[in-house]
Amino acid sequence: MRFCFLCGKKTEKLIKGYCEECYNKKFQLIEVPKEIFVTTCSKCNKIKEGNKWKDMEIDEFLRNKIKIFGKNVKIRFEINDIVKIYAKGFLEESKKLKEEFHEVKLKIKKEVCSGCSRKFTDYYETLIQIRGSLTNDDIDSIDDIVLIKKGFYRIKEVKGGYDFFISSKSLGEKITEILRKKYKAEIKKSYKLVRRKQGKNIYRNIISIRILSD
Ligand SMILES: [Zn+2]
Ligand SMILES: [Zn+2]
Repeated sequence: MRFCFLCGKKTEKLIKGYCEECYNKKFQLIEVPKEIFVTTCSKCNKIKEGNKWKDMEIDEFLRNKIKIFGKNVKIRFEINDIVKIYAKGFLEESKKLKEEFHEVKLKIKKEVCSGCSRKFTDYYETLIQIRGSLTNDDIDSIDDIVLIKKGFYRIKEVKGGYDFFISSKSLGEKITEILRKKYKAEIKKSYKLVRRKQGKNIYRNIISIRILSD
């Protein structure tokens, strides 16, 4: 007869010096980090793992962050800002089914993956035609708002100004607002019907901004 060094219980079977009950309390089936950071593509939901964009489910990504110590461990997730993790299985050398519950903070960052940014470079919902000149500060504030709104745009220099091809209508409005606040300008809006593959009618906004003075 031997004794569990934690609770003192008499037992035939000790595992690493513990009775089976204490052993199951002391050791974990899985180990999870306190926080998990994940970067996903805002367009296609791919997940960035290391430097690669992968077509994987968030469950699989989370699973890769977990260290498993037990045997036959089944893991189930409930995913929100806090991820609830339910694990069920057996510790090494134990026949007692163990259940565990863990919580992890999930920090999601949205980016546009390389594939999507290629695909969307020709894509735009708003065209802003600016006639007049912009300062580097203007471009900086536009870059900031584009970053905050997780959009994208490209600039084409044209005679007398610039054409901005902008990913979304709301972003187009924001950029117009920035320039309206700073400059005395004549602003005209129009719409152009564009037809996309899905057969849906989509309107593209066209905003002409003529900068009169600052
Ligand atoms: Zn014990
Ligand atoms: Zn993507």
